Amino acid sequence: MTLQQIVDRAKRIVFFGGAGVSTESGIPDFRGMDGLFAREYDGLTAEMMLSRSFFYLHPTRFFDFYRKYMLHPDAKPNACHRKLFELERAGKLRGIVTQNIDGLHRAAGNRLVYEVHGSVHENYCMDCGAFYPLSKILTTEGIPRCDTCGGVVKPWVTLYGEPLDKPTEMGACREISNCDALIVAGTSLQVEPARSFLDYFHGRDLVVINRDGTEADSRATLVLRGNIAEIMDAVRVDVP
Ligand code: NAD
Ligand code: ZN
Repeated sequence: MTLQQIVDRAKRIVFFGGAGVSTESGIPDFRGMDGLFAREYDGLTAEMMLSRSFFYLHPTRFFDFYRKYMLHPDAKPNACHRKLFELERAGKLRGIVTQNIDGLHRAAGNRLVYEVHGSVHENYCMDCGAFYPLSKILTTEGIPRCDTCGGVVKPWVTLYGEPLDKPTEMGACREISNCDALIVAGTSLQVEPARSFLDYFHGRDLVVINRDGTEADSRATLVLRGNIAEIMDAVRVDVP
């Protein structure tokens, strides 16, 4: 079975992606070759820096790290993002469930996107709830403050130790349980609770596209060990 054959016979595809989907756009992943987890920052790991407790205990250091390593305002959608837009437009793709916070699927034009770890493009005042775009974080230094009430502006991004946004999580699980083909790409599947999303899949074809092996490989109809952007770019989409 090839990816093309699986795409051709599927009626409802869901794409479940992780940081590996955006590395071709110049955004480093966490656990890949040049991932952020391979280094320490002032003696701390990226996982510690991006934890709920670090945010509350050391907000200035949190925002310094966040601005330096998690924000890539100039990154553009790559061939994988663009192909997924074509697939959605053709009515084949019913949803993208992404662990990425970079907003690149929406930038590519997709509407059926479940950002289960949130998005750097949404930021809210912790006191009055006022919304702020990414520019608020980019154009300030230290702790970003609300223009109206002076409260701390927090990115809508799931930190280690925080629960997922419930409505987004429920929507993602619903789409995965209703699809007939699930493409899992660019995720090491080591982050809970996102990895357990796979348990909701009861469709026909599970495809895994990833450079490294994952725990889903043994259950997959097809495992492709290559570059996600190249592999997805080669998929032909028939417009009905
Ligand atoms: P991960 O870093 O744990 O794993 C990424 C996987 O993708 C690795 O197995 C790597 O081998 C593979 N990979 C990388 N580039 C690839 C390519 N071009 N082709 C094929 N495979 C490739 O990522 P994760 O499982 O998503 O977990 C990381 C967590 O950190 C996520 O929760 C996410 O929210 C966050 N994160 C997000 C971004 C982003 O928004 N772009 C970037 C880094 C981390
Ligand atoms: Zn406020």
